[in-house]
Formats: sequence, C-alpha cells, structure tokens
Amino acid sequence: MTKEFVDVLVIGAGPSGCVSASYLHKNNVKVKVVEKTKFPRLVVGESLIPRVMDHFAEAELYDALNAMNFEKKLGARFIRGEEICVFDFSQKFGEGWDWTWQVPRADFDNTMAQEVVRKGIDLEFETEVLEVSFEGKNSKTIVKDKDGNLKEIHAKFIVDSSGYGRVLPRLLDLDTPSKLDPHSSIFTHVKDINREEGEEGTQISFDILETEVWLWVIPFSNGNTSLGVVGPTDFINSLSENKDNAEALRNAIQKSDYYIKRFKGTEFLFEPVKLENYSRAVKRMYGDGFALTGNSSEFLDPVFSSGVAFATESGMLAAKLYLKESQGIEVDWEVEFTQYMKRGIAVFTTYVQEWYTGNLQTLFFHQPENPEVKEKICSVLAGYVWNEENPFVKKHDHVIANMAYLLNMQKEQSPE
Ligand code: FAD
Repeated sequence: MTKEFVDVLVIGAGPSGCVSASYLHKNNVKVKVVEKTKFPRLVVGESLIPRVMDHFAEAELYDALNAMNFEKKLGARFIRGEEICVFDFSQKFGEGWDWTWQVPRADFDNTMAQEVVRKGIDLEFETEVLEVSFEGKNSKTIVKDKDGNLKEIHAKFIVDSSGYGRVLPRLLDLDTPSKLDPHSSIFTHVKDINREEGEEGTQISFDILETEVWLWVIPFSNGNTSLGVVGPTDFINSLSENKDNAEALRNAIQKSDYYIKRFKGTEFLFEPVKLENYSRAVKRMYGDGFALTGNSSEFLDPVFSSGVAFATESGMLAAKLYLKESQGIEVDWEVEFTQYMKRGIAVFTTYVQEWYTGNLQTLFFHQPENPEVKEKICSVLAGYVWNEENPFVKKHDHVIANMAYLLNMQKEQSPE
C-alpha cells in the first residue's frame, strides 16, 4: 500500500474543510484534503450569513468567490400571512460585514475547492476515508481512491470536516442525540420564470406556514431559486400520503399565500430531496490529534442559516489552534475550541428553540418595530454571536422569552 506523510489531513472539501486547508497552507503547513465525491456535488445550505465573509477573507478564498457574481444577500425577510419583517444587515448592532451571498452550493463549493487546488494544495477528489487509527496524536488513515486503490496517509493532525459523512464521530463512537426536537426538510431548485424584477424577485425569504413550519425561498443569480419546506418530522411526513417528496413540496407551496402564484406548477429541476431529522451533536469536539469541524460536529437547524458559518468558524479555529500547537505553544482545546464554539452554538440554539416556540416570531412581527431591539437581533442573525456587548447575545437564554411574554401581556390587555 502506498504511504503519504503530511502535517494535517483534512477530511471533506466543503466550506469547513476548504477554509481550514487554505488557512493552513497559507501558513506553510503541509496539508492534504481528501474528498469522497466528484465536484460539483449537490449539497444543501444556500443562505449564508455575513460572519462567513470574515473567514473567506482570512482564508484568502474571498476573491475567487466574489468573481462568481453570486446573488448578494443584504438581509433576510420573514413573512407571516400579511405581516412582514425585514432585517437589513447594514442596520445591525456592532461591527461586522453588512452582506454575504445566497448561493447554489454545488457551484459555490466547487469554486472554493478549485481555488484550493489552484493554490497548490493537494486535494484528492473521489477519495474516501475508510479507517483511521491513532497512536498518540499521530494518525494513520486508510483511503480508497476512484480506481479502488488503497493508500495510507500518515498525519500529525486530522481536521474532520466530513459533514454528514461524520467520519470520526462514527469511527470513534462520538455521536450523541441533538437537544433539538426532530425536524425534517424537503427541498429542490426551480427555474424561477415568474420572478419579479428587482428586490422582490431576489429577496431571500422565509414564509411561516404554521408556527413550526416554514418555507424557504432563496433566489440565485443564475435565475434559479431554491425552495424548501421545514417542520417537525411528523408534519413533513404528513405532507404526502404516498411519501412522494415532489407531491409533499407542492402541497407545502400551496399553503403559502405569498408565493403560491410565483411557484404554482413550476417545474422542479431535480427530484426534491428529503433530509430527515437533520440535527446532529457529538459527545466531544476534539481529541488527541484531531478536531471535528462543521457538520461533522454539530448541526442545529436551517432557520437562521448558521450551518456554513459554524462550519467555517470551527474549520478556521481548528487550523489556528493546530498552528499554535505546532509552534510549541500550549493549547487548551477544551477552552479554546470546545467552549468557544459552544458559546456560539448556545446562542443559536436558543434562537432556534425560541423560533419554534413562537416567541421570536412575536418579537419579529411586533408593531411598531423597536429599532434598538431589531439591530441587536440583526447582529445575531448576521452570525456575530460571540459579541457579548450585545445583550441579545449575552442574555440570550432569557431575553427573548421575557420580551415575548411582556409583548403578549401587553396585547392581551390593550383594547383592540
Ligand atoms: P459539507 O458541506 O457537507 O461537506 C462535507 C464533505 O465531506 C462532503 O463534500 C462529503 O462528500 C465529504 N465526505 C463525507 N464523508 C467522507 C469520507 N468518508 N471521506 C472523504 N470525504 C467525505 N447552512 C447554511 O449556512 N445556510 C442554509 O441555508 C442552510 N440550509 C440547510 C437546510 C437543511 C435542510 C439542512 C439539513 C442544512 C442546512 N444548512 C444550511 C447546513 C449546511 O448544509 C451545513 O452546515 C454545511 O454544508 C456544513 O459544511 P461542512 O463543510 O461541514 O460539510
């Protein structure tokens, strides 16, 4: 069996793996990426949030991505019947990027991966990790390439960015049930032939069909739009008696007063994909000689589009901590990696949970709007969830529930 020796092996060439690999390479680390599939490949996660731009800039992937003219995302619109709430990232509390992109991930991830290759990083497509064993921090990984050849890769560190492949969580028995209720989704892309001109046509939107059920509408600059329905698994399963994903998604679109006209009868560009019980969690996020990043560690919920941002945040952080350790500086992975990531995850977990209780929706749609509250929530939605100067970060565990309670009381007491 052929043997290769690298400093860092990155498993998976999604956003987490590419950001990590690119940052390591920039800092003269010998890094290799193995990716199971051939790109472009289909993957969900098309609505980004501004925090990712910090990572793409730092990993020097921004220019290549920017050259692709993906649709700019300046904010997000939430719709509930006739009520509308628009967040504008330029109106957020604190520092940070004011915009990001909404992207067909096949093209987006392919652009990133090709840029990684162009930089001279060894990225092997159609190469699957089969086994990993550790001796102290050193690892030996067995991979199978597209011709079926087996190879040994010896690494001082592994960044596991394998997404739902969950390579190390599976091999090391690190999976644990998510704290979130079981939710599922069905999605596809359509040729958006009825798209209105201007902002109405390109605005990314989340249409609330019932408190716990929502439809995403993510228009791309190539004229196509991503449509997906999300809700409790039982509800998603009840959308089609025959378990037909296309029928289920059409039935969901029927429930949207706002979008029914635009998407009625529109041809689906591929058979809608169902992702059942998509939330994931792990018992621990690192170990001797490895770190879990992106979806390979935790995935919460698509409602606030935090997935890619956590993937790039953790990929970047794992790379930085490896670099620090390789320079002989002691790293406390528990504090510097797990606890840091968990702080951000905790904030978004609260927002996801309070979305599905309806409390956050009470705040979003309350009239008149309170600009001071809105800018702080907007900063969270932009992904700046480590900014403890923001009370909607620092006191996330009670501020939303308390405010919603007060607003509901006020409504009950005020005469119509
Ligand atoms: P991925 O992008 O999944 O990449 C992992 C890569 O690892 C893959 O290319 C895979 O082929 C490779 N791999 C797997 N196994 C192996 C192996 N054995 N050997 C080698 N390679 C392997 N996030 C957002 O930010 N915005 C959204 O709007 C959004 N919507 C979502 C909607 C739904 C319904 C769901 C379920 C998720 C959504 N997400 C969203 C989350 C988003 O999809 C992920 O968080 C993001 O793709 C994670 O990136 P990653 O780099 O960790 O993994």
